[in-house]
Amino acid sequence: MQFLDDKYRYRPNGDCMIFIYSDASLEEYDSNSTDEEVYRRAVHHSASVVMRSQTVRNTFVRDRYVSEYAKRRANGHCQLCGSPAPFMDKYGKPYLETHHVVWLADGGADSVDNTVALCPNCHRKMHFLNLDEDVQTLLQVIDSKR
Ligand SMILES: [Zn+2]
Ligand SMILES: [Zn+2]
Repeated sequence: MQFLDDKYRYRPNGDCMIFIYSDASLEEYDSNSTDEEVYRRAVHHSASVVMRSQTVRNTFVRDRYVSEYAKRRANGHCQLCGSPAPFMDKYGKPYLETHHVVWLADGGADSVDNTVALCPNCHRKMHFLNLDEDVQTLLQVIDSKR
């Protein structure tokens, strides 16, 4: 077990930030490891209690109406792949997730012009790949529904 330098443990705003690394996570992960090697280490490292690492991150307060409007505009269909929402929420409404085409973290606005409703798969894809062609598709969808 190892703590980072004390100076990292407290932030000026009073948040306490403690990083704890288990010894195992300090080992260099080698992506060329054989399956057996990965299995051996996975078994060796398996623990009944999982340690949490705490990170302090910026959070954004988003407007509910912007999100609700984006979902209504999508009319129950993902605005990237066009598929119907995968299931209904507990209020019987199609489950879609709101996505900001220009991410809030990159300075994007929480506005109806920057918000689309996506199925969970496409939402994950946007955050994982954020392909330019998909971004263009979404911007066109927003444009066409103005
Ligand atoms: Zn989709
Ligand atoms: Zn998103």
